[in-house]
Amino acid sequence: MERSDAYILVFPYPTPGHINPMLQFSKRLASMGLRVTLVTTQPNTKPIEEAQSNYPIHIEPISDGFQPGEKAQSVEAYLEKFQKVASQSLAQLVEKLARSKRPIKFIVYDSVMPWALDTAQELGLDGAPFYTQSCAVSAIYYHVSQGMMKIPIEGKTASFPSMPLLGINDLPSFISDMDSYPSLLRLVLGRFSNFRKAKCLLINTFDMLEAEVVKWMGSQWPVKTIGPTIPSMYLDKRLEDDKDYGLSPLNLNVDACITWLDARDIGSVVYVSFGSLASLGEEQMEELAWGLKRSKGYFLWVVRELEEQKLPSNFIENTADKGLVVSWCPQLDVLAHKAVGCFMTHCGWNSTLEALSLGVPMVVMPQWTDQMTNAKFVADVWGVGVRVKASDEKGIVKREEIEECIREAMEGERGKEMKRNAERWKELAKEAATEGGSSDKNIEEFVKEILCS
Ligand code: UDP
Repeated sequence: MERSDAYILVFPYPTPGHINPMLQFSKRLASMGLRVTLVTTQPNTKPIEEAQSNYPIHIEPISDGFQPGEKAQSVEAYLEKFQKVASQSLAQLVEKLARSKRPIKFIVYDSVMPWALDTAQELGLDGAPFYTQSCAVSAIYYHVSQGMMKIPIEGKTASFPSMPLLGINDLPSFISDMDSYPSLLRLVLGRFSNFRKAKCLLINTFDMLEAEVVKWMGSQWPVKTIGPTIPSMYLDKRLEDDKDYGLSPLNLNVDACITWLDARDIGSVVYVSFGSLASLGEEQMEELAWGLKRSKGYFLWVVRELEEQKLPSNFIENTADKGLVVSWCPQLDVLAHKAVGCFMTHCGWNSTLEALSLGVPMVVMPQWTDQMTNAKFVADVWGVGVRVKASDEKGIVKREEIEECIREAMEGERGKEMKRNAERWKELAKEAATEGGSSDKNIEEFVKEILCS
């Protein structure tokens, strides 16, 4: 098959943390001559389409069963309806494209939607799941899904092949507290229901970063590491104009943030963000606010609109000489800015990969899901971060602890070592994505396999 006949469908779960990496992967495939159609539910469609003119990606909106602006009553209700409606919409879309000039040959689907493979295979297509989390986290979920892991009790550790020992607070929160989000636990474990029927497993990581666990996984299944999937201009610079993920409506405050950073000294600012979903409790928000103020340095803090009412009253006014609070920022530009000295993060996998790829040390304050495990690796395996400790049974991290960890990352000996390690990971991330690097070779191989199938 010629590359121009290779029509690929890419289908992410509809949140930024899933769309961003799969959109980047789509751009890479499109730049290699493949015909990529990105399937998305309506609200995300327009911005992506407008932003992708350089890497022609065809956008196909499908329904997730909800009207724009309509909210599901619960996560369970959303997931149930989404699966039912989206799998039907997917089948209709594949049939529609088969009648048109874009007959689909292969589907890359988000690993949390294994039903997409069933739907595709019923229509005679092959597919590969895309894992938007680390290899280590995916391996942990695999072991749990197979009933191969005993959950440790407080003070004990869990052992997995090719991984450091993990304490209860290092495990994904859906595992350490199985009753916390049963429907999300089912979602992440469900990824291993039919994955053996897939052509290969695409994982957003790179070999050197998770060498041992990648090797272990690779000895079991056809794994391809293809990350980090951050825009090319921050990494290998091969895709001209690939500077952002393309979700532009969320990229508010671009000029305000960059102008503010331009006026600060090198390495003098703590950038603080907890991603697109995590929500801190009011007490924790207050401790964080006062912790930032106590650290006496500059801070750029992303507080999403709905979270803003949790800030202490007059905090923004009282700290205006030191801090800038925005509702969303161009995170890659911010992390790449020379004024940023460290990143206080919830350790979402995209944020973690972005900080590693841009050489930024971290203060890690994981909230839920895979963030706990990412935080463990950031602090203890990759040596690029310091993890805050909660000091009471409610799990609140106090202002003094936040202040101390920021100082350690920004001023201490450990901070210097973290910076050296971060610079090394930055080089290795670039190497993996550059022509001939491990992820680049895997993507080439993946494309060849599709063309030959
Ligand atoms: N992000 C951004 N601006 C912000 C906060 C986050 O562009 O102000 C982006 C960030 O660069 C990352 C994504 O949103 O690509 C968040 O993904 P992550 O996996 O880190 O966390 P999640 O939002 O899924 O918890």
